[in-house]
Amino acid sequence: MSLLKIQNLKVHFNARGKIVKANNGIDLEVRENEVMGLIGETGCGKTILGRAIIRLLSDNVEFAGKIIYKGEDLLCLPEDRLRKIRGKDIGIILQNPSAALNPVLSVGDQISEIYRYHGDMKKQEAGIRAAKMLEMVGIDPKRMYEYPHQFSGGMKQRVMIAMGLALNPGLLIADEPTKGLDPATKDKIVYLICELVKKRNTSLLLITHDLGVAEKMCDRIAVMYAGEIIEIATIGNILSHPKHPYTQDLLNSLPKRGLNPTVGESPSLSSPPSGCSFHPRCKCVMDECTKKHPVLVETEKGTNVRCFLYEGN
Ligand code: SF4
Repeated sequence: MSLLKIQNLKVHFNARGKIVKANNGIDLEVRENEVMGLIGETGCGKTILGRAIIRLLSDNVEFAGKIIYKGEDLLCLPEDRLRKIRGKDIGIILQNPSAALNPVLSVGDQISEIYRYHGDMKKQEAGIRAAKMLEMVGIDPKRMYEYPHQFSGGMKQRVMIAMGLALNPGLLIADEPTKGLDPATKDKIVYLICELVKKRNTSLLLITHDLGVAEKMCDRIAVMYAGEIIEIATIGNILSHPKHPYTQDLLNSLPKRGLNPTVGESPSLSSPPSGCSFHPRCKCVMDECTKKHPVLVETEKGTNVRCFLYEGN
């Protein structure tokens, strides 16, 4: 069953006189109790999509389309209603915990604040809940009086997970939760998030550029390129039968598949190439690819691809 449905979402903004089309007609669904991965190169618009869902973007951003969460269009809601939804219904783990955590508040107080704001709880009760959350993510609750600088990168990420899940949201958005971590810590964090979302029946939108992480965690994958979704399929189909040439390149860039990344630069979101945005880098490019823009079409049940190789099949 659908929990979040994004329809024809456009997120554009003006950057030094140029219109940046960070999300340009996104259609995406996250179902109840599923882990949906959003993958793509840095700068393809995936972080902006994660923030757009809960409208955590600056005022100069223009939105169009719909973001339906449990029947409500989040793009039509006033800010006070959105503030209640953030954290309570939709939790978020932001990139870079060192920057996201408040350096002058103890980690316990940062978690307690969530309970006090949303649950109108007394300080003592909020502190007890915060200690329980720390324990749940594998941190000794006695450390709740310590400050972010006293924690390692992996431990700070655990605090972010505790904050994201504190109010038991229906949906958790995790933006690059393993970025910058060493391989052993990365595996522990992946395992922790998977275990917690399953236990708490939380759906997860995992934003990552790391296909190895997506492979371990996701039920389905949406591949993003130049502000658009170019393929959606189950993780099994993506790994065994990737359809879009860019998805094939992403897989070929994995160490176990030969470390052959896509040649060329990812395009500018303010002046993408004509026709298919991927055409300058595509090994299968055809004449029509430079002139016409492909649409996302269903190639088989559960698989959608944006590429002329599959249109009319
Ligand atoms: Fe390549 Fe053309 Fe498909 Fe784009 S539409 S991915 S350029 S074959």
